[in-house]
Amino acid sequence: MQIDVLSLFPGMFAGPLTESILQRAQEKGCLSVHLHDLRDWALGTYKQVDDKPYGGGAGMLLRVDVLVAAIESVQEGAIPHRILFSPRGKVLTQERVEELAAMDRLLLVCGHYEGVDQRVIDGGWIDEEISIGQYVLTGGELPAMVLIDAVARQIPDVLGKEESAEQESFSKALNRKKEYPHYTRPEEFRGIRVPDVLLSGHHEEIEKWRRHHLL
Ligand code: SAM
Repeated sequence: MQIDVLSLFPGMFAGPLTESILQRAQEKGCLSVHLHDLRDWALGTYKQVDDKPYGGGAGMLLRVDVLVAAIESVQEGAIPHRILFSPRGKVLTQERVEELAAMDRLLLVCGHYEGVDQRVIDGGWIDEEISIGQYVLTGGELPAMVLIDAVARQIPDVLGKEESAEQESFSKALNRKKEYPHYTRPEEFRGIRVPDVLLSGHHEEIEKWRRHHLL
């Protein structure tokens, strides 16, 4: 899968993309992330990317002409699925993550400041607005990293067998419920014991216990 990201702060992505599973996914060739600096499409000698909102009010908005120039330049021939991060968007779910992971190419647009000029959405340059929760962040960069991480682990061969995403919270296999609790050694810690059934070796009983403890 190819993911293009449009951001004013592409440097923010360095950490998450160069560690652990996301790094491995790129090395294996399962995932290719292209970071684009929105300032490359800035206007004039002052390299302007934002402007004051019509009607007044605090903050600055990313300009529609800058955003559209960037989107059109990055999307090239075949148009990718274009996502804008916004608190106004639909809250991201595991089901949607799975659907996005089946796509060939995503283009993620990170807002900043007060957000973006609405015409980038109304004009058809965005296919979907996604929120990662009902709170407000400073920019779309962290939401983009959250989405890339969640999507990457659904791409075949990204996770090793031991890290399988099949039986996890919100997975189809667990009826979209939250996973059962886990325990590892020692069997007893400060008087708190691992449930006996998990030590019994009785697979059917263990399975029953786990199903019973889904939330
Ligand atoms: N004025 C906007 C509002 O009240 O809804 C908030 C803008 S926020 C400070 C700047 C940018 O951060 C947004 O354009 C969006 O890209 C991103 N952002 C902030 N919170 C988000 C969330 N919960 N989900 C997705 N993106 C978010």
